[in-house]
Amino acid sequence: MHSKWNDIAADEMVAAYDAKGVGPDIALRVYTTRLLGRDPLLVLHGGGNTSVKTRGRDDLGVDHEVIAVKGSGADMADIEPWGLPAVKLGPLRELRTLEALSDEAMVNVQRLNLLDSTAPNPSVETLLHAFLPHKFVDHTHAASVLALVDQPDGEALAREVYDGRMGIVPYIAPGFGLAKAAAEVFEADPRVEGFILHKHGIFTFGESAREAYERMIEMVSLAESRLRQGRPIVFPARQIASAVASAAEIAPLIRGACAIRKEGEEPIRFITDFRTAPEILDYVNGAELASYSQRGVVTPDHIIRTKNKPLVVPPPEAGKLDEFAKALREGVAKFVAEYDGYFARENAAVGNTKTKLDGAPRVVLVPGVGLFGLGRTAKDAGMAADLAENTVRVVTDAEGIGRYEPLPEKDLFQLEYWSLEQAKLKGAVVKPLTGQVALVTGAGAIGAATAKALAAQGAAVAIVDIDGEAANKAAAAIKGLGIECDVTKPEQVRAAFALVCERFGGVDILVSNAGAAWQGRIGEVSDELLRKSFELNFFAHQTVAQEAVRIMLRQGTGGVLLFNISKQAVNPGANFGPYGLPKAATMLLMRQYALDYGADGIRSNGVNADRVRSGLLTDAMIAARAKARGLSEAEYMAGNLLNREVLAEDVAQAFVQLALARKTTGHIETVDGGNIAAALR
Ligand SMILES: [Zn+2]
Repeated sequence: MHSKWNDIAADEMVAAYDAKGVGPDIALRVYTTRLLGRDPLLVLHGGGNTSVKTRGRDDLGVDHEVIAVKGSGADMADIEPWGLPAVKLGPLRELRTLEALSDEAMVNVQRLNLLDSTAPNPSVETLLHAFLPHKFVDHTHAASVLALVDQPDGEALAREVYDGRMGIVPYIAPGFGLAKAAAEVFEADPRVEGFILHKHGIFTFGESAREAYERMIEMVSLAESRLRQGRPIVFPARQIASAVASAAEIAPLIRGACAIRKEGEEPIRFITDFRTAPEILDYVNGAELASYSQRGVVTPDHIIRTKNKPLVVPPPEAGKLDEFAKALREGVAKFVAEYDGYFARENAAVGNTKTKLDGAPRVVLVPGVGLFGLGRTAKDAGMAADLAENTVRVVTDAEGIGRYEPLPEKDLFQLEYWSLEQAKLKGAVVKPLTGQVALVTGAGAIGAATAKALAAQGAAVAIVDIDGEAANKAAAAIKGLGIECDVTKPEQVRAAFALVCERFGGVDILVSNAGAAWQGRIGEVSDELLRKSFELNFFAHQTVAQEAVRIMLRQGTGGVLLFNISKQAVNPGANFGPYGLPKAATMLLMRQYALDYGADGIRSNGVNADRVRSGLLTDAMIAARAKARGLSEAEYMAGNLLNREVLAEDVAQAFVQLALARKTTGHIETVDGGNIAAALR
């Protein structure tokens, strides 16, 4: 590991913040905090914090000695000064004289001494930083340090590697007790340049931002060189069938098996995030996977995102998905029962004061394939997958030099059910479609608006379009997945769904929206044009619906198919036969799916919209038609019973409502501002 310190970048940071009235101490603290936060070998998802001791002024103009320390909710990778709340240092240091201090009292004192009452809560490790005299203090959960200390003789190993340069602190849960113990280790030998926290991580300190940061890099590098002395082949492989099923095939089975079903309610679903790489395969294919993968998390705070153990399933033999699905369901049931047992055991030991969290796995290891992270949102699933990848690295290195041995279950229970850790998850708001995956075809006005509306309700959204750039643009606006796909080509449709399964785990909501309007007087229109329109306006709806249903049945948690039909299906316009005929067939297709798959909990509904400004009804067409009727464009667009123009957003809302309507199937929602001739009867 090399230092990324750069004098020019540091000076620029100081100058940039100086212009905003922020002093050099904070500017440099921001600079090296970002350097640390951007290296996943050092910091992942909240696993680390930094501080600087400086001066700050309160509203009375009084100057105080303060510690600016990373606040909860701030991401080290792109931290800003607001993410380093300033706390008066004097009162924090006085706490050192106490024998004990509850977590609640610790948080209270920290908040009472903030210079800004609206600042985020200072880190739970603030007191450890405050009790040290050094100006800059850096803390990470570096992977290589964890591989060293997650060993039965981890403390001895750390002593050997650091040869007196680092203080060794035994494992104590974060908070007041750890802060005091660390301060005592420092005072016993003030020459140390940092601490190794047994089974937890590493601190380094210094008088300058650069010194503390470069000590971190040096100390982590020392751990790395020790790990390089490990065995080259760590995990002898087990025998796996030569052909295994793909991640895309098994992801919907995993999602379905892990979903939490509740009688009469929508299941609680998870998004999955698939990862694979040679190191991951070496790990999941290891003959002893059931042993080393089940010993627990590499550092305590991972437990809130990954649980203590992953679910391990058998390798999925190609062509034998039913067998795999059965083993998976049994595996999940056993996993949940074991989680319940762990909770009951540990909760009893603390006087039954805790409320159980859900017992579903957050990481699934699949020999022959790779690993899946699970979360209620794509972001959470990604974090679980990142931590799982990090775990693969740490456990591989740890087993390479000895035996991986993390903390025992009781210490981890304390962390998993610690209010200050759970508070880190509080920001996540559950929305009506949280946990669901939507696939929208067509990235035009209606498709893009619908994708946005579904994402706003919490869904993870993929958008496909024949124009890949348009798909990516619409997807980028909502942090979704854009895919180039011609929906009239079944092999491209299958590939697109496979990508969605790898990225999000499956599909719960299909919005089959892509279409195009061809015109011609029906007695004179060419067969070729009519067939072309049927390909896109009927057969493509069937192709995507079929693929979606195949995946929904694998998940076994129902789903909904939504078709963009058209008023043309019930109220044809002159010379619109080539468009209206396939749309009429699509309306019946919608009803056929409702009929054939209702018993599987798969709903099927449609939207009939009319006169919406889009790729099918362009500004030029609007101008021409308005002129032909002797109307202004606004009058033409609002030519309906309500005299209101129908917008793409109105159509999008109809799709969202139908996605939420658990007891509605075979239904058409009309969004046309009122047109009796197009009313369904
Ligand atoms: Zn820590």
